Amino acid sequence: MNNNNTLENSFNASYEELNFVEKAWINYFNLFESEAIATAVIAFLMHEIVYFGRCIPFFIADYIPSFAKYKLQPAKVNTAKEQWTCLKSVLTSHFLIELPLIFGFHPVATFFGMEITTVPFPHWQTMCYQIALFFVMEDTFHYWFHRLLHYGPFYRYIHKQHHEYSAPFGLAAEYAHPLEVLILGTGTIGGPLLWVSITRNLHLITVFIWISLRLFQAIDAHSGYDFPWSLRHFLPFWAGAEHHDYHHMAFVNCFSTSFRWWDHLMGTDLKYKAYRQKREEQADELKAAATSGSTTASSSGSKKSN
Ligand SMILES: [Zn+2]
Ligand SMILES: [Zn+2]
Repeated sequence: MNNNNTLENSFNASYEELNFVEKAWINYFNLFESEAIATAVIAFLMHEIVYFGRCIPFFIADYIPSFAKYKLQPAKVNTAKEQWTCLKSVLTSHFLIELPLIFGFHPVATFFGMEITTVPFPHWQTMCYQIALFFVMEDTFHYWFHRLLHYGPFYRYIHKQHHEYSAPFGLAAEYAHPLEVLILGTGTIGGPLLWVSITRNLHLITVFIWISLRLFQAIDAHSGYDFPWSLRHFLPFWAGAEHHDYHHMAFVNCFSTSFRWWDHLMGTDLKYKAYRQKREEQADELKAAATSGSTTASSSGSKKSN
């Protein structure tokens, strides 16, 4: 079907009233005969650009000595060969598993009433509450299915691959068995599909922003870095790398993705909390030892007045 009538069909405003992104959006879709192919192409490109683009800063960070102190497991180094193996596996999975799924997305999305080419885009407040809801839905789905994947045969035959890296790095976020990609990917795309099937109120651009933010979250969680500017220092309920890195290191606890509340509620973070407390105590002891050492050295035997 020729899709050149997209412009007339989807306009609620005149072309001049649209912002730059909305104009680009409509012009992009008018390039294609098929809206389904246009959707798949942009979705796949967006996924590749966001995924690998977000990994690059962490890859560079490994070569900056002053960032080494922010490493969560500094003793473990992933060799270039290990990272190359991971990259090849992730790329294979993107082309053989995710690309066919992405092509299947448009028919399902439009069946449930998702807006694809409609402009102008929804109000930013609408996008915000919907994306916040998708984060909560995905986190809940992921928590329970991730716990299931740690059960005997599910772990041995499916989830073990993702746990090959006990000190993960950004690229390893999507390093997983095809079935795991399918199961946990459902948590990412299932929320928006469920929402639009009930409300008939969702635009593809909102889904794209949600998936981009979800990729940011997943790569950050696997980065192996806990920077002072990492989100968890500003949002105490945000899991971040420190939470998921422990899961990879210890193979237990911390099953959720974005938030800490499920692990807290279900008591699946007790070992993690004990480990964290121990590390904090060790850091305090080291600090105290360093302080008393410097005090002794500076006083040089003279008695302190206080
Ligand atoms: Zn796991
Ligand atoms: Zn992981």
